[in-house]
Amino acid sequence: MRRRLVILGATGSIGASTLRVVAAHPDRFEVVGLAAGRDAEGLRALADRFGVRRLALAAPNGAGIPHGERALCDLAALPEADLVVMAIAGMAGYAPTLAAIDAGHDVALATKEVLVMAGEEVMRRRADKGVRILPLDSEHSALFQALQGEAYRPACVRAPGEPAAEARVAEAILTASGGPFLRRKDLDWRRVTVAEALNHPRWRMGPKVTVDSATMMNKGLELIEALHLFSLRPDQLRVWVHPQSIVHSLVRFRDGALLAQLGVADMALPIQYALTWPDRAGAAPVEPLSLAQMQGLEFLEPDLSRFPCLRLVFEALPRGTWTHPILTLANEVAVRAFLAGRITADRIAAVIEEGLAAGPAPFDAILRRAEETVARFAAP
Ligand code: MG
Repeated sequence: MRRRLVILGATGSIGASTLRVVAAHPDRFEVVGLAAGRDAEGLRALADRFGVRRLALAAPNGAGIPHGERALCDLAALPEADLVVMAIAGMAGYAPTLAAIDAGHDVALATKEVLVMAGEEVMRRRADKGVRILPLDSEHSALFQALQGEAYRPACVRAPGEPAAEARVAEAILTASGGPFLRRKDLDWRRVTVAEALNHPRWRMGPKVTVDSATMMNKGLELIEALHLFSLRPDQLRVWVHPQSIVHSLVRFRDGALLAQLGVADMALPIQYALTWPDRAGAAPVEPLSLAQMQGLEFLEPDLSRFPCLRLVFEALPRGTWTHPILTLANEVAVRAFLAGRITADRIAAVIEEGLAAGPAPFDAILRRAEETVARFAAP
């Protein structure tokens, strides 16, 4: 039987890659619901192409498509779905992810903010409901693949009584491309333009995550994501810069063995793995990695003095999970302000730092404080 998918974030880059996987395996997948942010026309075109009747948009629209958080949650909870692909950028993915879990659906999760904001709650609810969280992020897919074993299970898919994969893990090593500023001489965040920050050397992604890659905050958020998905401790997490983006992440096991997943930089492979897990279906619609492409792979320790956002994450993690929503929400507010031309890039780390200094707070208070900090930094 075909696996029935709901895709939230269908018109974004993850959505496009997901639909590429669906189109490559029409015998395996059927799309039963599609949602996007505001692009009604793009959503309609996809609905026509894939024969989908149930749609939702985040923003109000003149197209008669149900909209708003309620509509997204209803779509995520669609009874006929088997698996929900969550790829709405940012914190807007939070409520629909919980709705999908509560409806008993497995979730293929690309929206890292969901786990960063509320990882403990999401993982507890998924265990209660007996559903799986399947990582879509390329690094977490690599860790997930390295953690597969016949006798034990990674935390994000474990059923009661199954032995834990993390008991075998010494450390999880996330690789990072380093973004466009890895080797920039005299890097001065005050002078970094939006266009420069959006010019990522390896991956084509939405603007929010592309800026996060430039500041390396993306890797910081991914550390938190890994913490929750695989039930790890902060001291088990490492980041190495790997500019070629071929080794997508590695696990060092207690016996010393190092396992990695390698591939070209194309999200279709991790997406297909999540959609077909625990199977490996037919060929993913990506160019296979040739060993000839693997000459001169580099691995560098990240320079935290150049990337203050990543430094702030490493400093915050041992202080506890209360830091997680501050790290993601303050960053999101700051990045949107940077993209809108309201603040300079150096202020992104400053907004996060002020949020952390204020201590634990509910989501709305964190957001309000970040907005106030942005307003103070904004050019008149
Ligand atoms: Mg990633």
